[in-house]
Amino acid sequence: MRQRVKLESMKRVVVAADLGGTNLRAALVNEQGEVFARRERPTPEGAEAVVEAVGDLLSQVARASASPPLAAGVGSPGLVDADAGIVALSPNIPGFRNLQLAAPVSERVGLPTYIENDASAAALGEYRFGAGRGTRHLLHATLGTGIGGGIVIDGRLYRGARGFAGEIGHVVLDPAGPRCSCGSRGCLEALVSGWAFAARARRLIQSGNSPVLLEIVGYREPTAADLHAAALAGDRQCEAEIRNGGHLLGIGLGGLVNVLNPDIVTLSGGLLNMGEMLLKPMREALFSIAYGPASGTQLATTTLDDDAGLLGAAAVAFERAALVAGPLKG
Ligand SMILES: [Zn+2]
Repeated sequence: MRQRVKLESMKRVVVAADLGGTNLRAALVNEQGEVFARRERPTPEGAEAVVEAVGDLLSQVARASASPPLAAGVGSPGLVDADAGIVALSPNIPGFRNLQLAAPVSERVGLPTYIENDASAAALGEYRFGAGRGTRHLLHATLGTGIGGGIVIDGRLYRGARGFAGEIGHVVLDPAGPRCSCGSRGCLEALVSGWAFAARARRLIQSGNSPVLLEIVGYREPTAADLHAAALAGDRQCEAEIRNGGHLLGIGLGGLVNVLNPDIVTLSGGLLNMGEMLLKPMREALFSIAYGPASGTQLATTTLDDDAGLLGAAAVAFERAALVAGPLKG
């Protein structure tokens, strides 16, 4: 009953969807970043089924609201042309190539619908609801299976010419380095990411130099978490891989800090589970190359945790709705 009362007392709400490769989540979010009426289901296969599922889930959530939501926001992995409402390419979701997402979802939900790359949405979510509250300029990095990012300048998401800005995972640090998923070599993501760490772990096992890792992994495919577990169990090689990854991450982020001079750099994603083993060398490298005033940049990990995706999508909806309606009055 308490939730019902709260819902009725909410003046401005949006519906938000976090479209992941595995799960699709949706919820009602108010201006304070409170999340209500959550729904979740596995992401179906095929582009059409995904569009339908996003629309249906958002409609269900919208019906739970006492007042009509302002807009719908959807965070999607991949290259998202937000202004055109199109997912240009999403390697994690088969069939997502130049897919019209915003228009058909909008038709189903009956609300203006705005889509955004999930990492860019996460940046706006941190700025509005999370670790970046009260700042003006923010750089966000998502450290997961891949590396994503988003940039907030003067309180607005910086989208670039076609909405692809913030792809910090594809800053090249080592042109002779390992091949990246994007086709280049030695991108930040090819050196330090969930999949890059897993590849290092595989190589360590094949070299026969990491018996601890071999014992943890056995005959299955190693993961970044295995590399960390072996490091914690005393495997020096595994620890060196993670520390070196942290160092490279700091070099990459430090260069971006020198370009953008943000108030804050915020971090989210599964690699944060590696804790100080990754973060200490990252901080040291970042501040060792930070130029002048950039050394005053704050660093923070996400405060949004599991709701980062939903709150990011909600922040996108609030930002776009405010642009259409003019400044929201309290
Ligand atoms: Zn790349």
